[in-house]
Amino acid sequence: MEVGSDREYIYKSSELDRHEGQIIEELKASAGESIPDPDAWLDEEVRRNIVLTSLDTVVNWSRRSSLWTAICFPACCAFELIAAEGPRFDLSRFGMEILRASPRQADLMITAGTLTWKMAPVVRRIYDQMAEPKWVIAMGACGISGGIFRSSYNVVPGYNKIIPVDVYVPGCPPRPEALIYGIQMLQKKIAREHPIPDPPRLLQKGKQA
Ligand code: SF4
Repeated sequence: MEVGSDREYIYKSSELDRHEGQIIEELKASAGESIPDPDAWLDEEVRRNIVLTSLDTVVNWSRRSSLWTAICFPACCAFELIAAEGPRFDLSRFGMEILRASPRQADLMITAGTLTWKMAPVVRRIYDQMAEPKWVIAMGACGISGGIFRSSYNVVPGYNKIIPVDVYVPGCPPRPEALIYGIQMLQKKIAREHPIPDPPRLLQKGKQA
């Protein structure tokens, strides 16, 4: 490459070829090892921090892991429920040791005891005051069918005559282990629910709003 009298660069093709070849050889000499990926740390971050799942699964997991029970224990089955709450059976393992005096703060009713027709409107009202979503476990023979008092004129032959029941736990009374088994059945049932509306319904609502 030369500089002419009018200061213009004069290129010789052979020089350009040599220069270019030199650059390529230098690059080849330095390209023995692969350059580490500057974003390699991202793979580790993704592996540790991102979990793929569905919204249904997350919502159901939180619902079934924090069931709060409304106080509605009209008869003797209640003692087994109280035992289940104690340290030996430790119901809090299932995230549901909290008993709520207000039905508005509860999402589970465990019907621990015989229900008389005189008490039925009160139980129905407690159920109606519970916020959605809500579930019911019929505990004991009386809760399921009226039990030994079934033929009595004043006993409701099963809570399912006045409120919807999700799980039935038989026994007179059922032991705490049976109640815990029933609770686990309810948790499995909740895990199969679909609380999130499907996308077309969501889109439809968005357009209407
Ligand atoms: S099922 Fe038995 S223990 Fe439970 S409330 Fe009825 S009579 Fe009492």
